[in-house]
Amino acid sequence: MNNLIEAKNTIEFLKEHGISAKKRYGQNFLIDRRILDRIIAGSEITKDDTVLEIGPGIGTMTQALCEAAGRVIAVEIDKDMIPILEENLSDYDNYSIINEDVLKLDLNKVMSEEKKRIKVAANLPYYITTPIIMQLLESGLSIESITVMVQKEVADRMQAKPGGKDYGALTLAVQYRSEAEVISNVPPNCFIPRPGVDSAVIRLRCYAEPPVKAKDEKKLFAVIKAAFAQRRKTLANALKNAPQLNLSREKVEQTLTQMGLTADIRGEKLSLSEFAELTDRLFD
Ligand code: SAM
Repeated sequence: MNNLIEAKNTIEFLKEHGISAKKRYGQNFLIDRRILDRIIAGSEITKDDTVLEIGPGIGTMTQALCEAAGRVIAVEIDKDMIPILEENLSDYDNYSIINEDVLKLDLNKVMSEEKKRIKVAANLPYYITTPIIMQLLESGLSIESITVMVQKEVADRMQAKPGGKDYGALTLAVQYRSEAEVISNVPPNCFIPRPGVDSAVIRLRCYAEPPVKAKDEKKLFAVIKAAFAQRRKTLANALKNAPQLNLSREKVEQTLTQMGLTADIRGEKLSLSEFAELTDRLFD
């Protein structure tokens, strides 16, 4: 087994095996021991934990996770990575690999045996960072924390305040489920190949109970997503045009007025608790 936790071994391994990163799968392999250590420490994983890793690639982070965790479940879309991963994990017996597209996977089913809340750790593929985070936050999966490498711009969106251009559905979903904290900024030279953007490791510590109460969580997520689906529209137009919500113009306008909001307000002005109140009133 090649010890990929040491970055120089990862660099050599990629060269020796002639592994060229597949752009279509967002492959940027981590080659920085310091950052890997920060992810593992930041994710607060212990031998009591089961960890879900999304996109293990050649297994650099997976090796470190197998050392730290009780069990690792790694989901990788690229079938060419599977034999490489198996070879690089041959010293461990506390992992399973699922060769699937994570977005098509029923994570509740995959994790159905788990009794404790799971932890998620990953160097995410950047072309689908937001859908993966939304999938994790909407799945109802029992998650204790999510510690992930993302584009810096996505980390900014997760922590945005109402009113700005970064504030949107991702911000609200993250804030409804968790407390977010950036644990490291990561420059492009920590990867092979180098991505065209700066990155950050962000940890979401998930709440046992959300900070605001919504009568129907699914409806809250649906309203939030509809509000930001077409950013240039007013909130009223975005909500009444969303077929999945099935709301009349009168109901939307009347509800905004009841809440003391103007007819031309945009979604980005509303806080999480206002979205919860809006949803409760719209579907009362
Ligand atoms: N974990 C490795 C590391 O840190 O060096 C690789 C990280 S690389 C940024 C992202 C990984 O996600 C790649 O291995 C890629 O093949 C995998 N991936 C891309 N799309 C995926 C999907 N839809 N489902 C599961 N894995 C995916």
